Amino acid sequence: VRGAPHLSAANLDASRAFERWLAPRRDLLATIALRGTYLDDEDVARLLKLSLPGIDEVIGLIEITRMSRALAGPNAQFENVVVDTAPTGHTLRLLAAPALLGRVAGVLDNLQSHHRAVVSALRGSYRVDAADSLIADLQREGEELAAMLRDQQAGDVTWVTLPEPMALEETSDALAALDAAGIRVRRLIVNRVTPAPPKRRSREGGPPPSVDCQWCQARRRFEARAMAPAFAASPLRRGRPSLRRGPQLELLALPDLPKEPRGVAALRDAAGLIQPWQVPAKAPPLARRVRARLKGTSAATDFLSGASWLLFGGKGGVGKTTCAAAAALDLATDRRVLLVSTDPAHSLGDVFGAAFGDDPRRVPGGPKNLLVREIDATAEMARFRQKYVAAVDEAFARIARSAGGDQAAFRELIDLAPPGIDEVIAIAEVAEALAESPSRHDVIVTDAAPTGHALRLLQTPALLRDWTQALMAILLKYHEIVGAGTLAALLVQLSKRLRGLQAVLADPAKARFVIVTRAAAVPVAETEGLIVSLRALGIAVGAVIVNAVGAGECPRCRAIRRAQSEEIARLGRALRVLRVIRGREGAYAIIEAPAEVPPPHGAAALQQWRTSWRQIS
Ligand SMILES: [Zn+2]
Repeated sequence: VRGAPHLSAANLDASRAFERWLAPRRDLLATIALRGTYLDDEDVARLLKLSLPGIDEVIGLIEITRMSRALAGPNAQFENVVVDTAPTGHTLRLLAAPALLGRVAGVLDNLQSHHRAVVSALRGSYRVDAADSLIADLQREGEELAAMLRDQQAGDVTWVTLPEPMALEETSDALAALDAAGIRVRRLIVNRVTPAPPKRRSREGGPPPSVDCQWCQARRRFEARAMAPAFAASPLRRGRPSLRRGPQLELLALPDLPKEPRGVAALRDAAGLIQPWQVPAKAPPLARRVRARLKGTSAATDFLSGASWLLFGGKGGVGKTTCAAAAALDLATDRRVLLVSTDPAHSLGDVFGAAFGDDPRRVPGGPKNLLVREIDATAEMARFRQKYVAAVDEAFARIARSAGGDQAAFRELIDLAPPGIDEVIAIAEVAEALAESPSRHDVIVTDAAPTGHALRLLQTPALLRDWTQALMAILLKYHEIVGAGTLAALLVQLSKRLRGLQAVLADPAKARFVIVTRAAAVPVAETEGLIVSLRALGIAVGAVIVNAVGAGECPRCRAIRRAQSEEIARLGRALRVLRVIRGREGAYAIIEAPAEVPPPHGAAALQQWRTSWRQIS
């Protein structure tokens, strides 16, 4: 990193890292598969070509260990390795990755056991070979990774959150999940805390210059009200555990900076501002909402019309769920709307202040045309898995000769399916609801998981179809032995669903992506990247909503507004360039949604807030 001589940075390329890992092991893995099943060279090559499920997480961890090991050696290259992980749900998955290595080892061991039995029977004894060593290595590597994550001497976890109720509730859930997995979080950093007003002396005995404003005061009170209960001794509502974890959890805060720090100098300054943090005293509620005023722009009315499926996506903390909820309420004034969340961290309930579940339900105080559903993707996946395992067992029950290795391998292939299969199966069902005739909904609005994850979710149908088709191709070879049966039918159905989902996503008259972002450098850069990736996937972008624009009137607030204007202008320029490349397909609407303290909550406040959105291009 230029300007920081002791710092090196790397973006992990998961597919290259995986290839580096696989290359020396490919032949042995093929040998094990050939020994353990009826698969031939061609089948095995096909399976090994599949992008292996969850492998980026595992490889990520292996790469981190590789770098950490380099620390201990005599030619230690680094003394510290800092890992920036993906958002919450994804991080929890990363930490579960070592278990996947164990499962892979288990599948391989099952396959190899058939070979061991045959060799022992023929020769009267069995000697461990290279294939056995590979299996043992995988097992060991998984255990070492798991141990490393829990070893507090080797590393520690810092959790970063925002002083807002939803972020704090998510943090509380995540910390509880990590704690249950035996992983201790040592540090909690609360980012973007509104600073205390600067103390400025009045000049020559006159009145002190204005250094604070209504906006900043409201923000401080809102943050204090969000944080006090999260750290209270008694549990949060809905059984969420308190964040007060005694002296082991170091609490730090970074103040909200007018301009997002970018570059070595700005980041160094920001690091210097990280301070030990005290939980604020409980503050009285705000008398009324404070909304930032947007100037010189026109009302954003029907920028969402024309598509029957709107997928809202954006990075965590940008207010994606709030925007999706407000848009759905607005659409429901004259259309029948279904608002669906597939994000494992459901937050529609928090936004509307009501509980939702798998059955579509009306919003308290909302229009009768709007139904809300929170899909439980994990439960959906569990049902699919059950059907799959039953079908495998049924197929193999018909085989007279022992095919234990194959049966076990087929059974376990479901556990090796690409991660995100649960959300894709759930979302494929949503896509099917669109094709129903007569359709129960005019528009479906989905609140997808955060950016990286949403992209992956959209890429997964293709991966998953490769996986399904590889299974089916292999199954065809077994046709003589096991018959097509339920298993084939199940796989054909899944493949069809995925093809349907891909077709709907690629049709701009049906599906459009709405990106929610913030007027800051990193989110804006990510938005550009997201648009490019979506286009590569053939998915149309309908609009970019820049959320939480504006602030108050004090010097700090004016500096915030200036920095935001610069970023929005940069976003506009980037989108114009993209539009030129994009050609006749049409324009992206850029929408500004004003910042509000506290953020809009409940149907009435959301509807009111929606009327103040402005279209700026
Ligand atoms: Zn202010």
